[in-house]
Amino acid sequence: MIFSTPEWRQGEVLWAVCLRLDELMSRSPPEKLGPMIRALLNTKPWRLVVLIGTLAPLAIVCGIRWEGTGGAVSLASLILPVTLVALSGRLRWTLAASCLVSISIAIEAAYSGGPDDGNGLRFAAALVLIITALGALVSTTVRFLRNSIEDPRTSLRYLRELEQLPVPVRTETAMPPESVVSAEFPVLLHTLEDIGRRISMNLDLETLLPAIVSTAKASLRCGECRVFLWDQQGSELVNPLGRVHDEQADVDCFSPSVESGLGAWVIRERTLLTSERVEQDHLLKSELSDDDYVPQAIAPLMAGGDLLGLIVIDELEHQSSNFERMLDTLTNIYALGLKNAQLFRRVEEMALRDGLTGLFNHTTFQRELRSLVRKSTVNGTPLSLVMSDVDRFKSFNDDYGHQAGDDVLRELALLWKAVMPNSAILARYGGEEFIAALPNCDEDRATELAEILRSTIEEHPFLSHGREMRVTASFGVAEFAGGSQSTDDLVRVSDQCLYTAKKSGRNNVVRYTERSVISLRSTS
Ligand code: GH3
Ligand code: MG
Ligand code: MG
Repeated sequence: MIFSTPEWRQGEVLWAVCLRLDELMSRSPPEKLGPMIRALLNTKPWRLVVLIGTLAPLAIVCGIRWEGTGGAVSLASLILPVTLVALSGRLRWTLAASCLVSISIAIEAAYSGGPDDGNGLRFAAALVLIITALGALVSTTVRFLRNSIEDPRTSLRYLRELEQLPVPVRTETAMPPESVVSAEFPVLLHTLEDIGRRISMNLDLETLLPAIVSTAKASLRCGECRVFLWDQQGSELVNPLGRVHDEQADVDCFSPSVESGLGAWVIRERTLLTSERVEQDHLLKSELSDDDYVPQAIAPLMAGGDLLGLIVIDELEHQSSNFERMLDTLTNIYALGLKNAQLFRRVEEMALRDGLTGLFNHTTFQRELRSLVRKSTVNGTPLSLVMSDVDRFKSFNDDYGHQAGDDVLRELALLWKAVMPNSAILARYGGEEFIAALPNCDEDRATELAEILRSTIEEHPFLSHGREMRVTASFGVAEFAGGSQSTDDLVRVSDQCLYTAKKSGRNNVVRYTERSVISLRSTS
């Protein structure tokens, strides 16, 4: 549809010519040199330092053999790699490379003699100083320039080209001059391709949303772009970036409402709405009169028929005739990016959690526990474990069926979440075994919590298919460093306490004491 208009057909021809030229250019030697130079510039600095370290002895030997070189052989053979290290912007590697080159020059000058014997060493010392200073200067400058350029995930090479194109003047016919359209077309295609690549690269919402905002601002040339995501559970629109934004003085910004006004209209109609359209359509204007302010455009973000959110555009530098088409194309790209990120997050969540209860799975728990043990060791804060196993669950399954057993496990997870503090790492450790790692919690408090949970489970009526059932569970509690020296040790000690709880009659809590573990050892 977009590509059927005359100016786009003309652009297509131009684009085909550009592609042909590009192809011809790519066959010429200078173009082939590009990737080689790029590869050279991208070589890891440590590899270049190793290269310098290998070449330096060779240069010294050659210099000494030829005599009177005054360090020139070392300088000539090592100047390229040291320059490449400096261009990497890594100061430490640059200093290491400069040091190696300097040592090589100094040794060569000392043993081969300079052009003038008296000045040889002075000449070498000057070279050493110059190389080190130049290296540090180049490296710092590269680093500074790199930092002052935008985030590579959101910066756009082609957008800068697009920004340099003449701003199309709005004419009576609302069509930009043909020359501008033709000039814009290849750049526009590059821009969209670039945006598409950047959006598909970002699978994390935290980096994707800033990428959407910055690419929209740059390509549409607008001062304001806000993304509101549709929260299906709460049936509301949330602006994840807005939390930071709103805390700064920007509270008066337009926020679309789900119930009425512009936001509700776009959600219902699933189509782009511009302030121009509201202004021209009197019926629409009266329908949307609830909103005090109408931003220049609100567009739905749709993927596969699902509404993912809204994008609000305002403070346009100028509203070209292509604006709506461009926004339409961009919202399609953004929606696909958002859908991708959401699916990726869901897959990640599934890999981390247990499907039945939604608690962390065994692998995730082990990883989290290792990290908590490290923190506890470094900060000297307490860390406790509570481990539990449902009593006689096999016979429960035999009596009520596995389906009822699954319902009980799901409900048990809810009880754990309700009783344990928010900071607790909760997991389904095995079939009907649950575990909690409690940071900043000593054994006394952990035992108290385990006791609360035990009595809650004992008194809780579990319901499945209209039947009420009862279960109990046994608990083992241990604190890190109380009989345990490592992560594995901590799990083993709490497991032993749980075993003791089972042996001493079930439906009880056993905390770590020398005896609780010794009694176990004596029976095993
Ligand atoms: P004990 O008091 O000694 O723990 O007795 P128990 O019968 O609970 O013994 P054990 O812990 O060894 O038994 C585990 C049982 O838990 C075996 C299996 O029937 C049941 N189970 C494990 N995973 C699931 C699950 O996902 N769903 C259901 N319904 N049952 C499970
Ligand atoms: Mg078990
Ligand atoms: Mg059991």
